Amino acid sequence: HRILLTGANGFVASHILAQLLSASHSVRAVVRSASKASAVRALHPSSPNLDVAIVPDMTAPGAFDTALQSDPPFDIVMHTASPFLMKAADSTSHFLEPAIKGTTEVLEGVKRVAGGVRRIVLTSSFAAVGSFGLKDERGKVYDESDWDPVTLEMVEENTADKRLAYRASKTFAERAAWDVVEKGGQGLVWDLVVLNPPMIYGPLAHKVAKTEELNESTARIYDGFLKDQSPEKELPPNGLHLYVDVRDIAQAHVLAMDAPHARNKRFFVSSGSVTSQQIADILREKVPGAVERVPKGTPGANTLAADAFKGNNTRVKEVLGLQFRSMEETFSDLGRQLVEIEASE
Ligand code: NDP
Repeated sequence: HRILLTGANGFVASHILAQLLSASHSVRAVVRSASKASAVRALHPSSPNLDVAIVPDMTAPGAFDTALQSDPPFDIVMHTASPFLMKAADSTSHFLEPAIKGTTEVLEGVKRVAGGVRRIVLTSSFAAVGSFGLKDERGKVYDESDWDPVTLEMVEENTADKRLAYRASKTFAERAAWDVVEKGGQGLVWDLVVLNPPMIYGPLAHKVAKTEELNESTARIYDGFLKDQSPEKELPPNGLHLYVDVRDIAQAHVLAMDAPHARNKRFFVSSGSVTSQQIADILREKVPGAVERVPKGTPGANTLAADAFKGNNTRVKEVLGLQFRSMEETFSDLGRQLVEIEASE
């Protein structure tokens, strides 16, 4: 395949890029600055199948029109770029416009200038699926038919709530993508595959010099379990307990390119639940030095409410053929790497 990949320097996309290149696909990695372009190139110094394009502002009209033109032409587009880092946000508009306009610019750009594209794979989120307390979730089993009920009014009334704005940005961006598909009707020569992962954890495939530079979901593990922690401290709350390994969600993007029955479908991509106690138990067992610093809690205790919501991952297993790693692999690989990054700071 010849693939355009946006947000290529990010946590998730770095794994997607590595997997695509190792399968000998040809990729144009899109980033938004020259320094990010160098960082991506440095990870794959001698790859003849990689070229890099810079799109400084993905909300600009026609933002991707130059990047989308290629000889040989693209047949696949993967759009992962979207604001997620909470500390980078000074207002709710930080999330909404880039997420929504970035997505519609990619799709409209494909219609305008990239006639060879046959499939667009969009990285949405469980943020566009779950209710996050807006509805009674006890005993609920989420699947691809569910949508986050968040509205623009809620965001406007709670301008300090960045997480709500992030959820809204992912929900509205995904809806905007489906709208383009619906309006395009039979005339569209491409189809859309949407992936909806919950929390994504696991080792980084990109270079991070300092723990301060960690992406949102990785920072949650570092801050809650390692940074300034001690065995006596309380474990962080479970938060969103559904998760997926970053290597598995990356693989879902790769599998999504060719699965014929994925056409115009969304996929809930999660291996299941993980609690803070389980994460702490794995880190303490597998990561050097962790016994002295990771909150201990009550090892082995089940801290998930019996009626906690769940997700049904049947579709991604059956239609994409995705298999999931164990949580031991996810958190031991991540924990060891975090300790190494910290030691090299
Ligand atoms: P990262 O923050 O590591 O990557 C985000 C990518 O999007 C970066 O390339 C970033 O570029 C780019 N980006 C952010 N804001 C903008 C903007 N305004 N304009 C252009 N590009 C922008 O996060 P992840 O890798 O975790 O996120 C990748 C995708 O996965 C996102 O769509 C996210 O919503 C989704 N996701 C992530 C989950 C997780 O737990 N990590 C869970 C569910 C979904 P730059 O480096 O220049 O800022």
